[in-house]
Amino acid sequence: MRASPVGDLTVHPVFDGTAVLPAAAWGNADWSAHRHLLDEHDSMTVPVGAFLVRVGEQLVLLDAGVGDVRNEMFDGGHLLASLHDLGVAPADIDTIVVSHLHSDHMGWLVTEQGSTFPNATVHIGAADWAHFVDDEGDGPRRAERMRRVEHQVSLIHEDGATVAPGVTTRHTPGHTPGHTSTVISSGTERLIVLGDALHCPAQLTEPEWQFLYDVDKDLAVRTRQQLLRDAEAPGTSVLPCHFAGMQAARLLPAEGRRQWVLSG
Ligand SMILES: [Zn+2]
Repeated sequence: MRASPVGDLTVHPVFDGTAVLPAAAWGNADWSAHRHLLDEHDSMTVPVGAFLVRVGEQLVLLDAGVGDVRNEMFDGGHLLASLHDLGVAPADIDTIVVSHLHSDHMGWLVTEQGSTFPNATVHIGAADWAHFVDDEGDGPRRAERMRRVEHQVSLIHEDGATVAPGVTTRHTPGHTPGHTSTVISSGTERLIVLGDALHCPAQLTEPEWQFLYDVDKDLAVRTRQQLLRDAEAPGTSVLPCHFAGMQAARLLPAEGRRQWVLSG
């Protein structure tokens, strides 16, 4: 997997495992122009994991993988080995931004052994905390796990919070109520780490496709469209969590239909 450069910074993929997404998760979307993304079972197997960026002395982890789990949808467990390959121990991480509190983005925050990243401040959108922890939106177990690291959590209440020099959060609700993207800026370049604002490359050109697990599907579409308009600005790339190779993409200015290429 290739790292994505952003000016003087480098954003490294931290592979944790894979997820299987059936085409049916996009409802009645027309796949005719995107068949190459699907396997013979009309599914795609996509990576899950996190991204790491070193900003000065600060080590920033974006998302926290799925954890050491194997079930129908997820096959995870490699995140700590991937960090080790980058020369990073869990205790070295001092800043984490969790895009949202679905299981494949917070999986390693806390395990049976306790907090995996004991020295990190964990930034989470306040509306996600309210939905998944206070209101137990995905059940009591998720909420209980998150409460075990509550002492490390810093809730994001305002759009554009700076968590490290050149690293700011952006409120991108829809997939979940407090879904948070992260904008990494260096020099004239900018990378928008999208979390799950998009799930597959087809949504770069079909942002109106609705995804089964978007909590507010209409809001998710509006957020996606706005993000993609912003991503057309010069020097800007996007980095979704679940694209093949965990690689960034750049949108190309085009008349009419939008086009994109992998960058990095
Ligand atoms: Zn996800």
